[in-house]
Order: sequence, then C-alpha cells, then structure tokens
Amino acid sequence: MVALRMVILGRQGSGKGTQSARIVDHYGCVHVSTGDMLRAAREEGTELGRTAGEIMDRGDLVPDDVMIGIVGERLAKPDIVENGVLLDGFPRTTEQADALEDLLEEQDARLDVAVNLDVPLAEVRQRMLDRGREDDTPEAIERRLSLYEQQTEPLIDWFEGHGLLEVVDGVGTEDEVFARMQLVVDDRLAARY
Ligand code: AMP
Repeated sequence: MVALRMVILGRQGSGKGTQSARIVDHYGCVHVSTGDMLRAAREEGTELGRTAGEIMDRGDLVPDDVMIGIVGERLAKPDIVENGVLLDGFPRTTEQADALEDLLEEQDARLDVAVNLDVPLAEVRQRMLDRGREDDTPEAIERRLSLYEQQTEPLIDWFEGHGLLEVVDGVGTEDEVFARMQLVVDDRLAARY
C-alpha cells in the first residue's frame, strides 16, 4: 500500500466531495474532512461543537491551535499512519500548513501533493444555483465564494512555494476529472521523496 498523503482544495461546487470519495476508494487512504468533524462535534453537543458551531455560523475560522490539536490527534491514529490520508478542509491557513508539516514529520512522513480542483467561478455559480439548495441564494453564494478566495489564496501560495501544488482542471465528467487527478497523484507517488 502506498499510504498517500494528500490535500484537496476546491471551491464549493467544484466537485471536491465526489472526487474525494473516488480518491479514498482508489488509494485506500482515510478521508479527513475537518468541516465534517466539527459538524459531528456540534451534533454530539460536545464543548468543541458548541464553540465551533458559533464560529462556523459566522463564517469565521475556528482558531488554529484548536484545529491543529484535533487534526494532530486524528493523524496519529494507526489507520492513517498505515493507509495515509486525504485532507479536506485542512489546512485552511499557512499556520495550519506549517503545523501539518511538523505533524507528518513526527511520523517520518511528508505530504505528497496538494491538488487544487479548478473550476471557473462562472461554472461553480451555475452549479450551485442548479442545486437549488435553500441556503444557495445568489447573495450567499457570492459571499461564500469570495470568503473562500480570500482564505485560500495564501494557502495556494504556500503549497506552490513548497513544490506541492498541482492544479487539476475540474470541468468535465466525473470520470474525466478523476483520470486527471490520478495522473498527477501517480506521478507524485512515482517521484516520491
Ligand atoms: P467546510 O465544511 O470545510 O466548509 O467547513 C465548515 C466550517 O468549519 C468552516 O467555515 C470553518 O468555520 C470551520 N472549519 C473547517 N475546517 C477548518 C479549519 N481547517 N480551520 C478553521 N476552521 C475550519
């Protein structure tokens, strides 16, 4: 087994969820979505869930030290040490990215790649409107997209500066996009370390 360690980035409506499921299925790594973890904590009504819930509702980011603690604990579990990880929603800041490097270093491991699933803004706007979800009003969509842009730009620069960034064209059928993802991931694995 390869124990792929990968980060996936993509706007809402980029198909990140679908492609994440395919990656996990194909490479046998563990899907870690920090958004899902926080939502689960919220449903359970834990202290973390209550604090995070308010922050999430405001559209703000949960503090770095909290996130790094949660992810650090998760990454140390044997399933991830053995099978690798697909990180989705983490890192969100360059501080989190630095911490991720350190956390993997503790396992004598490194990130293999950060894939940015690239779908033009006009296309994601249309996809989100087509989904017709109640919270997908044009204003809410614009707000979420511009927030994502602001938050993600420094991170893209960080991955690029660390030689980890791959941009994958996210326009096309599910199979086409996955084939593109597989190409860049397999290349990275072949050139490992
Ligand atoms: P997501 O499902 O990834 O969009 O995450 C939903 C919300 O959870 C975000 O808007 C943040 O408030 C919070 N969140 C998720 N991941 C992180 C993270 N790595 N750092 C800070 N906040 C996060």
